[in-house]
Amino acid sequence: MSYVSSVFERIKARNANETEFLQAVEEVFKSLEPVLERHPEYVEANLLERIAEPERQIIFRVPWVDAQGILQVNRGFRIQYNGALGPYKGGLRFHPSVYIGIIKFLGFEQIFKNALTGLPIGSGKGGSDFDPKGKSDAEVMRFCQSFMTELYRHIGPDVDVPAGDIGVGGREIGFLYGQYRRIKGVFENGVLTGKGLSYGGSLARTEATGYGLIYFVDEMLKQNHQTIQGKTIIISGSGNVATYACEKATALGAKVVAMSDSDGYIYDEKGIDLALIKQLKGVERKRIQAYLNTHPDAQYIEGLGNIWSLKCDIALPCATQNDITLEHAKTLVDNGIIAVGEGANMPCTNEAVRYLLEKNIRLAPAKAANAGGVATSALEMIQNSMRYSWTFEEVDSKLKNIMITIHANAAAASKEYGFGYNLVAGANIVGFKKVADAMMAQGDY
Ligand code: NDP
Repeated sequence: MSYVSSVFERIKARNANETEFLQAVEEVFKSLEPVLERHPEYVEANLLERIAEPERQIIFRVPWVDAQGILQVNRGFRIQYNGALGPYKGGLRFHPSVYIGIIKFLGFEQIFKNALTGLPIGSGKGGSDFDPKGKSDAEVMRFCQSFMTELYRHIGPDVDVPAGDIGVGGREIGFLYGQYRRIKGVFENGVLTGKGLSYGGSLARTEATGYGLIYFVDEMLKQNHQTIQGKTIIISGSGNVATYACEKATALGAKVVAMSDSDGYIYDEKGIDLALIKQLKGVERKRIQAYLNTHPDAQYIEGLGNIWSLKCDIALPCATQNDITLEHAKTLVDNGIIAVGEGANMPCTNEAVRYLLEKNIRLAPAKAANAGGVATSALEMIQNSMRYSWTFEEVDSKLKNIMITIHANAAAASKEYGFGYNLVAGANIVGFKKVADAMMAQGDY
């Protein structure tokens, strides 16, 4: 059995029920065989097994009182996965599906993503099985305060810097920071990113993941002498990443015809009315179906996954993991798709990834394509340290350069290690080598 297979078997045995985590590990390990052949020192140092094991996993009780006065208990998580490159960095996800396997897959992917940005950030991830949907602002505030009452002792601007993810946006980050400041008695705003502009947030952070995704996809298309202009796009999700992917794609001359939420999707052949989506999903926190009240000529189709049966040039899964299955990938290819850009983390199953690559579909992998979010979070940390703010244009132009550089580095590594133009392998290799070298230099065993 090869070194990679034997390590994977041990990881499987040790984390048997964590399917998403095992999926993420398998996908990365597949790209690393040629790297390990060329670098036996990584094998000697058993680097694969070390990198897959989190440095620290914290699981805690989060009690809070709901609007009816009933005491609820949720489970909180923070995984400090790898600190070789900098303070642990990665978002918090509040969603009922959250369990250790989800946080571990996200934290594992974050190692390579953060390394790809070229910025000094380690990897962390956290969250809770709390569902903010349908809760009042006061309930969300009480939950966030209770969550931070435990989390504060594990984080800090030079230790671990959480941010948002599914179910955690500006409102939640504000409540979390307020409680951190109250407990610590210091104005230490570098402890969280994704903050409001009034207390140290960065301009363009809200837009960064979606904008960065489009910069990356456009760069990828340029390798085929194409651009995003004039392309028809479908986007799953209607949250932070989906919204700003739609905004930038539209600004660059593409037409987004469909978006979704966890109930179903809307199709508007004239092009999605993004101002309305922002109002419905971002401000009023309604279901996407309400789009029809303003645009009765659009269509609403209930159910998950159906969106991938629509004909388009580019698919941007920006909702959640395992959104595009092998069956969906086949339908997309049959319908003439040219590219897939992963805005969400691990939105394509491993079988779907393999199929799309086999069919020569341009695939922008999440670790690279959505790294603009965490990269801009790192820019927020820099601004907080300097106690100074850059303009929107300054941050946006740094973001664009970062995305172009990530693309170039991933493409070069893929070629160097014999994968041709395979950004999935290239991104895994660049991220891995950077962290592996830092771990080797620091001993760590
Ligand atoms: P949001 O909470 O803002 O939006 C999530 C969107 O996805 C919503 O439309 C939601 O629908 C939908 N969704 C969530 N869970 C499911 C599910 N199980 N099935 C179907 N649809 C679902 O999250 P973000 O936009 O921040 O995150 C989206 C993805 O992007 C995640 O994978 C996240 O990890 C990734 N990501 C986010 C970054 C960021 O900066 N925010 C950075 C890098 C990656 P509904 O409204 O019905 O809940």
